[in-house]
Amino acid sequence: MAIDNPAANQDTHFFADVCRNFDYAAKFTHHDAGLLDQIKSCNSVYRFRFPIRRGNGFEVIDAWRVEHSHHQSPTKGGIRYSEMVNEDEVMALAALMTYKCAIVNVPFGGAKGGIKINPKNYTTQELENITRRYTVELAKKNFIGPSIDVPAPDYGSGEREMSWIADTYAAMNPGQLDAMGCVTGKPIALHGIQGRREATGRGVAIAARECVSVAEDMHKLGLTPGITGKRVIVQGLGNVGFYSAKFLAEFGAIIVGICEFEGAIYNEDGLDVDAVFQHRKASGSILGYSGARKEFKNTMEGLEQPCDILVPAALENQLTVANIRNIKAKIIVEGANGPTSPQAEAIFYEMGGIIVPDMYANAGGVTVSYFEWLKNLSHVAFGRINRRFEENTNLNLVNMVEGITGVALTPLQRATIVKGASELELVNSGLEDTM
Ligand code: GLU
Repeated sequence: MAIDNPAANQDTHFFADVCRNFDYAAKFTHHDAGLLDQIKSCNSVYRFRFPIRRGNGFEVIDAWRVEHSHHQSPTKGGIRYSEMVNEDEVMALAALMTYKCAIVNVPFGGAKGGIKINPKNYTTQELENITRRYTVELAKKNFIGPSIDVPAPDYGSGEREMSWIADTYAAMNPGQLDAMGCVTGKPIALHGIQGRREATGRGVAIAARECVSVAEDMHKLGLTPGITGKRVIVQGLGNVGFYSAKFLAEFGAIIVGICEFEGAIYNEDGLDVDAVFQHRKASGSILGYSGARKEFKNTMEGLEQPCDILVPAALENQLTVANIRNIKAKIIVEGANGPTSPQAEAIFYEMGGIIVPDMYANAGGVTVSYFEWLKNLSHVAFGRINRRFEENTNLNLVNMVEGITGVALTPLQRATIVKGASELELVNSGLEDTM
């Protein structure tokens, strides 16, 4: 299908690309031009630099936090740790967070952070220093807090970094009961929530599954409806790519290709995602994996191999005018934010393809973050709810036993049945934390 998107004809940067898509969508509404401009603009852009000690000297780190929209509070979005990060990118990603939260009806404004480092070049101690100092800088300017702005993981950061942020913020705000709600994506043992780690990938897989379930669209593409047997190439074996691939395989798709920055591997009969992950962990590369039939040194070549669905789950601007015509997939499901340039997007539509856009496809992460934040604010451990529920169920079991046998159990016997099963639940849930 051809889409008349004038935005697609200009070649500029990421934030401008997001704004062009916004302008295009806005044409279908009747809102006042000034209001649309307000929605589109980034409200606050905080750029700062701070020093850390390295070796015998110092290094100055560039960092950002952008709050795109305060139409809802707090603002919400991850922190990217990347050598490539820049202000334009953080602004674009913050804007995408606003639209993403609105689409899935999660009551946050959009935000994003960036720290310009390659985490692989720093020791754990240095990363901790950088993360804690970044948090202090945000706190000094009121750019973090459970009701102000709530960061989360993004490219290059994870649970460990979030726990340093939570700890720093809590230390700076003694006695603040909901301090743990200042950041999401924390480890489960440190007030995180079950399912957050895999949430973004799970959402991407569900988005793909739902897209291919629409029989009419699939027939137009010459594909059979349904996810079973669909050939998928995933770019990125980080948190989003790994879990996208895992869940898609679980739903019945065949992961034929995996691409990482060091290269790409392909097997038309399918790759074992866990085994590839383990191989990369052990050897430092996906290349050399014994289950691959083809290997490509150039990751971009991997994207161009035969498949039905392509899941770019790494970084923005991977699919551009330079390579979009070589893409064999009929469906692109955007696991990353902004992986397809507007120009490439327009061409792909002309080629007859379907794109499931980032702000819907990868919204699973912030959706589960919302529940983590709620849990931290309400001081209710969902594990405890389960336990209470289980205890109730077990009480019913006690009553049933008594009903059937006609014999009243002793208090000790009753307690053993109730407590025994609730302890089992405690272990199974993994939610031994107390908040
Ligand atoms: N970094 C993720 C995203 O881009 C998660 C954001 C969050 O949980 O706040 O959606």
